[in-house]
Amino acid sequence: MKRIKKYEQIYINLSWIFITMALCIEIICDFFYINNLQFHQKSVYRLVFIFALVLLNLLKQLAINRDLFTNNVLYWGLRALEIITITFSLRFLELGQLIYPFMFVIILLAACRRSKKDAFFIAVFIMVSDLIFSLLYCFIYQKSQLSIVEQGRLLINVIVYFLMFIFSIIYGSISADEIEKEKKNKELYSELENKIRQLETEQQEAKLQNEKLKETNYKVEEANKKLRESIAEYYTVQQITQAISSIFDVKELLKHVNDIIIGVMGVNNSTIVLYDEKKDRLRVHTTNVSNRDELIALFDNINCDALKDVLKSKKPLLENFVDSKEYPFTEDRNVSSLICVPLVTKTKNFGLVLVEHKYFNAFDEDNLRLLNIIGQQVSIALENAELYEKMHEMATVDNLTGVYNRLYFQERLQKEFENAQKEGYSLSLAIFDIDHFKRFNDTFGHLFGDKVLKDISNMLKNSLRSGDIIARYGGEEFVVLFPRTGLKEAYDKVESLREKIAKTVIRDELVTASVTVSFGLSSYPEISSTQSELLKMADNALYDAKASGRNCVKIANTDISSVVDSNV
Ligand code: GH3
Ligand code: MG
Ligand code: MG
Repeated sequence: MKRIKKYEQIYINLSWIFITMALCIEIICDFFYINNLQFHQKSVYRLVFIFALVLLNLLKQLAINRDLFTNNVLYWGLRALEIITITFSLRFLELGQLIYPFMFVIILLAACRRSKKDAFFIAVFIMVSDLIFSLLYCFIYQKSQLSIVEQGRLLINVIVYFLMFIFSIIYGSISADEIEKEKKNKELYSELENKIRQLETEQQEAKLQNEKLKETNYKVEEANKKLRESIAEYYTVQQITQAISSIFDVKELLKHVNDIIIGVMGVNNSTIVLYDEKKDRLRVHTTNVSNRDELIALFDNINCDALKDVLKSKKPLLENFVDSKEYPFTEDRNVSSLICVPLVTKTKNFGLVLVEHKYFNAFDEDNLRLLNIIGQQVSIALENAELYEKMHEMATVDNLTGVYNRLYFQERLQKEFENAQKEGYSLSLAIFDIDHFKRFNDTFGHLFGDKVLKDISNMLKNSLRSGDIIARYGGEEFVVLFPRTGLKEAYDKVESLREKIAKTVIRDELVTASVTVSFGLSSYPEISSTQSELLKMADNALYDAKASGRNCVKIANTDISSVVDSNV
């Protein structure tokens, strides 16, 4: 159709040229030469005709501009009007043969549009129209006979129409191929258009799918990230749980936990702060801070209100823009972000875990959550350690006197004896028993008797060296172990203890009294060579002491004077 539009446009342009030429010829011929500036009637008709052509041309131009030539009715209407105008002008305006080429052009255009059928139809229409106007012309001008010129013209007309028919058929046939091609092209084009539209829809769908895929991918990535974090958390908690179950020493455990925190969280500093409830004080227990000045700043300022508030409120703290005025322990320490979680259980405040970073905005809620989980684990470990310590104490200490019990003493005796054997040092053992304690109880009552046991135990504990071990061996019978102490030294020590006890006055609101004790002493390797012998011989010596009148010190199988003499 574009092709036809182009041809039609060329035709319109040619028409404009023709119209201009016709107008010029008309003006020049009619006004200047032929009629000596007189107005001829035919000239007026010609001008009207030219004007009609102008109008027709404008109409065609409008139809082409608006793509109305595809409309059949309008096309044929305009074409018929055009042919009628031209054939009319042929007969009545005597425009001569000049106008015939236009007929050919019209036939050619029709051939281009619809093939030979249309072209032929136009040629017939032109001929019929010309015939009608010719007859009309004869009738109006009452011409029954044609002149020779007119006969000649008629012959030319017949030839022209014959040529027109031939032309319409030939060009129509040529055009038919083109039209067929165009038709096919059109079909192909519409098919292509359909395909493109289909492709566009598919593209749109693919785009949508892609978008959905992207969204799913994002979600999967998010879930993956969460999973990785959860695995990291799980791994951390597992590491800490493992440390808790395998490390019984609290100091070592906290150091290990601190190292795990640094490794897992990638923080610059991690510090475990413990709380002394009695003194209401925080103190640094474990830290990786190593710079001397920084350590001083940390130790000196850790007992601050901001951290105490965390402990008392039991709520963790996340600060991504640290102000050293609020957190004095960060002064001159290049700390910009921190997290602090409390180490607390329902009943006890143990302290805090404090992590620090040199960059601002270094922590998020996930870091806080992880440290909180670690904090909870550590708190449980600390509570367990405390409980363990209490239970251990309960299992090893006599609850009336506060000195070790017999069971624990046996353990320690074995260890100390092995050490003494291995390292080749002396080990002395003394057993003492309160004299006539039954009578004492009977006289002053059991409660006062208990007080005697407690006071004597305390007094002895305070009189012994840190390495010496005292334990309650039976009711009012005690045992003292002196590692790295030979017989003579032990004898002197025991003798002085005996004297001290005898001099000690025990009193309560009602009673004032004192007791004496009898000692049996033995020593490795001077007297006894085995552990059981050491104990047995001390016991035997105690019997001796009792038998010798009490309130004295006896050495197993040994004459005291030899020991004392050797001293002298
Ligand atoms: P000896 O000089 O021979 O040791 O005379 P004794 O009376 O001390 O000896 P005995 O073994 O007959 O009596 C031991 C007494 O110690 C009997 C008991 O009442 C008293 N006793 C044992 N354990 C306790 C205790 O936990 N509290 C009090 N108050 N008395 C106790
Ligand atoms: Mg006794
Ligand atoms: Mg006794």
